[in-house]
Amino acid sequence: MKNNPSDLWIDISDIPEKGLNLELMKDASFFETEEADFRVTKPVSIHCNITKVGDEIYVRGKISFTIETNCSRCLVSFTLSADQEFKVTYLSATMRPSDEETELTRRDMHVSCYSNNRLDIILPVRDQIVLAVPIKTLCAPDCAGLCSVCGQNLNIKRCGCYKSEEINPGLSILKELKLRNNR
Ligand SMILES: [Zn+2]
Ligand SMILES: [Zn+2]
Repeated sequence: MKNNPSDLWIDISDIPEKGLNLELMKDASFFETEEADFRVTKPVSIHCNITKVGDEIYVRGKISFTIETNCSRCLVSFTLSADQEFKVTYLSATMRPSDEETELTRRDMHVSCYSNNRLDIILPVRDQIVLAVPIKTLCAPDCAGLCSVCGQNLNIKRCGCYKSEEINPGLSILKELKLRNNR
């Protein structure tokens, strides 16, 4: 079998009629990306089924990954593990779709191209990880964040300014009521 876990490429001629089931573990270094503000820290597990219909290859499966990122509220670095199901259709690059179609393909993360009868499984998986990580990541659902006045991480301890901030909204409501009553 050619399915050595260290192989980056899948040869199309290795895909039998009934499809091919793959279980891969790929090192974190394969998923380095500069467009995202996170880092893959552990090998990524990829389970997928590959089928071939004419020139089109369908890959569907699940990836499990662990990343390190910063909390959007308190900015502390933390680890996040997640699973993501995915589906990618590979089109032959030699089919040369019209310009319009190429444009569509380029924008769609669920469509990829193959050439020389080989599939790159890493690139689409990397896109799927980017898709799976929320734009706002929280270290905990109830993260208290940072004090907007002194910058204290409120998960660790409360600061004095937080208290006065809590009173202020009430005071301004009272002021507003007074203004309204005077009209
Ligand atoms: Zn946080
Ligand atoms: Zn403060």
